[in-house]
Amino acid sequence: MGTTMSDLFDFKSRQRRFAVVGHPVLHSKSPQIHDAFARQCNVSLSYDAIALDPIAFEQGVRNLQAGGVAGINVTLPFKEAAFRLADEVSERAQFANAVNTVSFSDDDHIAGDNTDGIGLVRDLQENLGIACTGARILIIGAGGAARGIVQPLLQSNPDCVVIANRTVSRARELVASMDSPDRVHPCGLDDVNEAFDLVINATAASLSSQVPALSESVFHPGSHAYDLAYADQPTAFMRWALGLGAVRAVDGLGMLVEQAAEAFWIWHGQRPHTAPVISALRSGGC
Ligand code: NAP
Repeated sequence: MGTTMSDLFDFKSRQRRFAVVGHPVLHSKSPQIHDAFARQCNVSLSYDAIALDPIAFEQGVRNLQAGGVAGINVTLPFKEAAFRLADEVSERAQFANAVNTVSFSDDDHIAGDNTDGIGLVRDLQENLGIACTGARILIIGAGGAARGIVQPLLQSNPDCVVIANRTVSRARELVASMDSPDRVHPCGLDDVNEAFDLVINATAASLSSQVPALSESVFHPGSHAYDLAYADQPTAFMRWALGLGAVRAVDGLGMLVEQAAEAFWIWHGQRPHTAPVISALRSGGC
């Protein structure tokens, strides 16, 4: 069992309280990450992982708010529900149709933001030195994660962005909902038959050790592969990409830490150093 509501409300500390909510959520690394940021920045907080009942998400969030929690991160499957619940959302959450960072104010106001996309772009460009500017980028998948990353990727001025999805209508809907649909090309997995500089797996396939059914020609010898999923071992997508000649394949752990750093900034106004936290998580702890 994780932390229960009553554990949280019995907590008699003067620290500000935060949590990640999801279902399931016990696997989440967010408590470790926020605790590490807090130590680094000398911020006093508590941060728990709380499983909410999927049929009572709103009540669960209202209970946390009433109990004095200052903010929550939201993970699967609640990001769209959090978007609907928020009184006010940022532009990036508005486009993503999903909220992963919620701030509660004293007057019961709920503000929602989405830090996933900026987290990915920072990991790519600042941590990994993978340039997006001028790059030909393929995003595989058209779910919530793809929605969250496409706009921030476009802001780094790539040469082109293609979104390929198993269900092609979903890729088309995503692109049609954009302000600048002419800059992104939707298609089905079967339609992709050229090579890209950066291939981003934003599907849930890695969660079941599968690889999207894509042409092997998507990689050239200088291609980078990035899997939003992360695991202790290289994911099936990373192994597949390296086997087809990608120069490098990376998982989404850095994105996870960077999106958390952006949430930390929203809540505490401080930007923690992410490199030591990524490195500690890679070696098994924080
Ligand atoms: P989602 O909304 O459920 O979307 C799932 C997407 O995956 C859809 O496009 C779906 O295609 C596609 N898909 C699922 N199984 C597939 C398969 N076997 N072959 C091809 N396509 C498949 O999920 P999401 O929220 O976008 O999450 C996607 C991934 O991103 C997950 O692995 C999640 O853990 C990861 N993620 C990581 C971070 C991070 O910080 N690193 C943040 C957010 C998400 P259809 O439309 O055809 O069903």
